[in-house]
Amino acid sequence: MSKKDTKKKNPLISSLSDNIHKKWNYTDDKVGVELKKPPVCPICSTEEDKAHMVMRWVKNEIVYKGSNYEPVEVAFKVAYKCPMCAWVAYFFVPCDHIYWTKILMIRKNVTLYYPPLEVWSSEDKKIAEQLESLGYFGGRGDL
Ligand SMILES: [Zn+2]
Repeated sequence: MSKKDTKKKNPLISSLSDNIHKKWNYTDDKVGVELKKPPVCPICSTEEDKAHMVMRWVKNEIVYKGSNYEPVEVAFKVAYKCPMCAWVAYFFVPCDHIYWTKILMIRKNVTLYYPPLEVWSSEDKKIAEQLESLGYFGGRGDL
């Protein structure tokens, strides 16, 4: 993650607003885009403990307009999910058509990308450890 943070701004997508660039990394790999700071779950987070959400998938999307379904815009649809309560947040991240096509080529024309499941399970383990540190021992037969 920190390696990607240090990457220079992609010239292919320089026409996008600065606000989008501030929030998203354009990764130049099969992921395509990712939030610089993972979102926190509004249901599970407390003031002391932020429950970070995990990326579940990224999809290349085409936006169509009118009755002729004329393509007008390309973007990445990104889903983040809370490992604790399963709440899902979707983002619709605009991008340059050249960058969008490049990512699609990297993925060999597969529009949907799922990050490896280990990311999800390592989050589960981390969350289990957090819960145990708070005194929850459910599911281990300790209750
Ligand atoms: Zn949650």
